[in-house]
Order: sequence, then structure tokens, then C-alpha cells
Amino acid sequence: MDYPQTFDVIVIGGGHAGTEAALASARMGCATLLITHSVDTLGQMSCNPAIGGIGKSHLVREIDALGGAMAEATDEAGIQFRVLNSRKGPAVRATRAQADRVLYKAAIRKRLEQQSNLWIFQQAVDDLIIKGDRVEGVITQMGLRFKAPAVVLTAGTFLAGKIHIGLEQSQGGRAGDPAAMTLAARLRDLNLRVDRLKTGTPPRIDARTVDFSVMQEQWGDTPEPVMSLMGSAATHPKQMCCWITHTNAQTHEIISQNLDRSPLFSGVIEGTGPRYCPSIEDKIHRFADKDSHQVFVEPEGLTTNELYPNGISTSLPFDVQYAVVRSIKGFENAHIVRPGYAIEYDFFDPRGLKHTLETKAIDGLFFAGQINGTTGYEEAGAQGLIAGLNAGLRVKGKPAWYPTRKEAYIGVMIDDLVTHGTAEPYRMFTSRAEYRLMLREDNADQRLTAIGRQLGLVNDLRWQDYSTKMEQLAAEHERLASTYIQAKTPQAEKVEQISGKPLTREYSLLDLLKRPELHYHDIADLKGAACERLDVAQQVEIESKYAGYIARQEQEIQRMAGQAETQIPSDFDYQSVSGLSNELRSKLEDVNPLTLDQAGRIAGMTPAALSLLAIYLKKHR
Ligand code: FAD
Repeated sequence: MDYPQTFDVIVIGGGHAGTEAALASARMGCATLLITHSVDTLGQMSCNPAIGGIGKSHLVREIDALGGAMAEATDEAGIQFRVLNSRKGPAVRATRAQADRVLYKAAIRKRLEQQSNLWIFQQAVDDLIIKGDRVEGVITQMGLRFKAPAVVLTAGTFLAGKIHIGLEQSQGGRAGDPAAMTLAARLRDLNLRVDRLKTGTPPRIDARTVDFSVMQEQWGDTPEPVMSLMGSAATHPKQMCCWITHTNAQTHEIISQNLDRSPLFSGVIEGTGPRYCPSIEDKIHRFADKDSHQVFVEPEGLTTNELYPNGISTSLPFDVQYAVVRSIKGFENAHIVRPGYAIEYDFFDPRGLKHTLETKAIDGLFFAGQINGTTGYEEAGAQGLIAGLNAGLRVKGKPAWYPTRKEAYIGVMIDDLVTHGTAEPYRMFTSRAEYRLMLREDNADQRLTAIGRQLGLVNDLRWQDYSTKMEQLAAEHERLASTYIQAKTPQAEKVEQISGKPLTREYSLLDLLKRPELHYHDIADLKGAACERLDVAQQVEIESKYAGYIARQEQEIQRMAGQAETQIPSDFDYQSVSGLSNELRSKLEDVNPLTLDQAGRIAGMTPAALSLLAIYLKKHR
């Protein structure tokens, strides 16, 4: 049957990419259909229910600044919040939250159900409707045909998903959910480069069988950090403790003795796994000199006894998992609630995508999330938002938009993916961004909210809050710059006491704030009242302390922009540029970079080849 209603955008998959994609497209006013295997798994966290961390929280804040759901849902569901790298500079500070997985799902589902222009349908999609080289809709398992000029595919780990526990294998999209076999086979018939990746998860432990008294407690930070730029700790549920324990020589011995029964080491798993999140068997093999690894024992929620032992992801046979778990201090009597496993799945070479995440091969078909070779909820959510946005813009006949590398980590990730592709699951790190000082998690709104508002992604409430914050920020900056403290006054004495240095002349409060030993709340109320908004106070402090570095980075960006933004026509003939090696020509043809800047980041590109290209483009403009 042809479904009677037509849609502007269809999103396949209700994971982290799919929910952000559907919400973004619907926020822009597009009639959006989200089709997913099960309404009950909308926003499901397949692995650890934790959001954020280094590099990842930057993505979450950017999703938030563009009106997305992930950060707000985390604030509604987070049972422990911490700031990582809190002693380092603001560029690499990162917020991480352990979430209650049930509350998180509920927070996402609530937002989907309350979103106007958004319809949800529970069914597997088995096929795409493709005419010539453009997509026109999808066909579900029961033969329903839904039509739309733009389709966003976000099938996660489900495409031809194969679960491994020891040398046993079964089909599955993740434990307990079916794989998408028919759709995977159909996609393999299209002109897309497909390969396999793998990821894994640890066995879950029943808290009632754990001896926490021998583990190290780890509480969240006080005051409680928040994930959303508009978040408040007052909305957080009850906070919980995590614990730390360690593997030991016995654990390592058990694993070494059983490597021949590991699907990873016996060659059964072909897909490459996440380098930065290796299985315990991989860690023991790779770091053979280490006799212990940390295990973070993290609760999965307020209403469950399940614990996530972060650090012992494994696909070893169950009897080995059992012995491994019981060899760990505090787990001597542990009961495993769910076995650990690895999963292999199809992903598509992201070099087949435009920066909008539309496939180059099929007009109107967008890919987002794990199927583009990434790993992580945050990476998936960020791509989903950009794919949903651009699907909507395309349908409305408006120009595409995606952030550049100097605007957002989302820009860095997408540019990395479409330029370099990936041979292993791609995870975000702050080190991937060349303009780190500009791309802080604390200023994501200043980088993105105004553009998000123009694109129709940011609602009135967020826009109002942001505008008030910007007004207060400007006013507070002005107040601090024009308020002076004279030497030998009671205020000067107070400053001297805190800083341990004499004030020999008149200083503005803003100048005092530039000193590393002084903080906003030390000086803001020396004359006049301090600003009550914590985010404004934090921003004034960061902007003044790092003003010199930030200005230098801005100059660097401008210097690079002259050359970097030179456009390369999409039909550019690389064969006509003499002096380029055949290898580089073929790489350039493959990636088809939009600008010289993007061309410069193709692996193997040399400065000499780049200047050949620049000269050629200038001559033939
Ligand atoms: P998913 O969250 O997988 O969502 C896909 C959605 O699409 C699901 O709702 C599914 O039902 C639906 N779907 C799929 N096919 C169809 C279809 N044909 N029709 C209708 N609906 C469909 N990330 C980390 O950062 N670190 C880790 O250590 C880690 N370990 C993991 C271990 C395992 C075992 C798994 C399964 C995942 C792990 N992840 C890890 C990855 C993390 O879960 C994903 O990165 C994230 O969920 C990707 O989001 P997504 O939206 O792309 O896909």
C-alpha cells in the first residue's frame, strides 16, 4: 500500500542520529516521519549510559546550541556529573555525565512526541524507493510505501549486524534487537562503498553481588555541572556514586590462556574496532607489560541494579567472561546480568558524502551516525542534526548549511570524515581541532545559536535566554573595563591579600581578571554588584584571561582564510594540472574537495602540490 500522506523528510532509525535528525527537520517546519524498529527503543543507549567526555561534550554543547535534544535529555537523566580536565585550560575542559538509561530514553521520547510536524512509525524499513539517481521514499517490512523527497538513514550498528560471543555468532543489531539484513542487502546493490567495523560492550553486573567496600568511591563534582547551556542542576535527578577497581595478574592470565577462543584473535571478526575503546583482551595483548587496568564501575540508573564495568568490554566466551569478572577485586561473587559481546556491522565510506551528509551517489539520500564510520552517541547525534537540517533545507529549496572547522567540532568531524574517510571507528577528541581555543564547550552558543535561529532550529525560549545572556555579557564586560581600583584603598588591600602581590597603581577590574591568580568572584563585587548569572561570570573570566591567545588564533584563521577558502569547481579536471602525482590526482578526484583548505587536508597532500593547485586555480579563474 502507498501511505496516503506524503512527507518532506523521512528518517530511518530512532537512535541518537535519527532522533536529532527528525527533531531538526521538524523544528524547521518540514513534515517529518521517523520510522524505527521499535518505539520503545527511541533514544536507547546501546552501550554505557554516559554522555560527554573529552571532545564529545563539545559536540553535545554544539547540538544544544543548535536547539537539539541530547544535552537537555542528559540534564533530565544524569545521575553523576563531572568536569574532566578541570585544572587545564578551558579549551580542553569537558563535561561528562553518567545517565539513567530509562530516564534518558523517556526524555528523548517526550521531546519527539511533543514536537510538531513530527510523526513516528514503528516498522523495519527494508528498501529505499530510488528512481534514476534520486531517492523518493522507503518501503517497510510489511510493504508500506512512504514517499518523501529526502530520506535520512541512521541505522547504527544494525546493517547486517553480527553479534559475537566467543566463537558463536548470531544476527542482531545489538543484544535483544533484530539486525537490518534486508535493507543491508539492498544497500549493497547501490553504488556505495561498504565495509565492516566492529564495537563491543562489557558484561553487566548485578550490584547486589558486588563488594563496594574494597573499591574506591568516585562522586560527581560539587557544584554539579550541567550539560545544556540552558541547564540547571535543580532539574537533575538524585546523584549516585561510581567506583573504581582494577584488573590484576590473575585476570590477565585467564584472558591470555583463552585468546584462542576469542573471535578477535582467531580471525573470526574482520571489522576494525575502536582504538580508543579497546576490549580487555585487546588491552592485555597490546599492553602486555601492564599488570593492571582500571575498571570504572558505573550504575546504569536509579531503578536498576545493573552496573556497567567500564574497561572490560569483551567478546570472549561466557565461561571466560565469568572467570574474568570474578577475578576482579569486589567482583568475587558477582552475578552477570547480561553477557558482553562484540558486534560487526556495515558502514559506508564517508568519502561518498557531501559536507551536508547527503550521499554523492543518490540525490536526497542522507547518511548519519554509526553508518558513517563513527562511534559514540555524541558523534551520531551531531551528524543527525546536520543531516536532518540539510534534508529540510533541500526540500525547502534553501541553500545548504554546515559548520566549518573553525566554527564547530561538528565541522571538524564532518570535514575529517568526508575528506579522509576512516579505517576504524571515528571518535572525537579535542586534538582533532586546529582552532581549539575558539571551539570551547563554554562558547558553543556564541558560535552557533544565532545561525541556528536563522535556520529555524532554535526556539523562542532558547533565543530569548541566549539574547539576555549576550546583553548581560556585554554589560558586565563594559562594567569591569570601566571600574577602577586605586592603590592603597581597602579594595586594593583585598586584591593584594588574594593575589599576594602589591597593587602599585590603578587597575581596571578587567585587567585584574587577566591575572591567573584572580577569579571573577574575587574581584567582581569590589565596586558594584557581581553578575548573578554563572554562565556570564564564567564567560567574562575566560574571555579576559585568554584574550591574547584568542586574538592570535583569530589572526591565524584570517591569514589562512585568504588562501584556504578558494573554491574548487565541482567539475574541476585534476588531469589538467600538470605536476600532480597520479596518486594525488586520484585522491583528489575521489574526495572532490570544495576548497583548497579541504584539499590540503587530504592524506598525502604536499605543500608543493597544494601550491600547484592554487596557482592553476588562480590562472584559470
Ligand atoms: P543506533 O543508536 O544504533 O540507532 C540505530 C537505530 O536505527 C535503532 O533504533 C534501530 O532500531 C534503527 N534501525 C536500524 N535499522 C533499521 C531499519 N532497517 N528500519 C527501521 N529502523 C532501523 N559507542 C561508544 O562511544 N563507545 C563504545 O564503547 C561503544 N560500544 C558499543 C557497543 C555495542 C555493542 C554497541 C551496539 C554500540 C556501541 N557504541 C559505543 C556505539 C553507540 O551505541 C553508537 O555510536 C550510537 O548508538 C550510534 O547512534 P546511531 O543513531 O548511529 O545508531
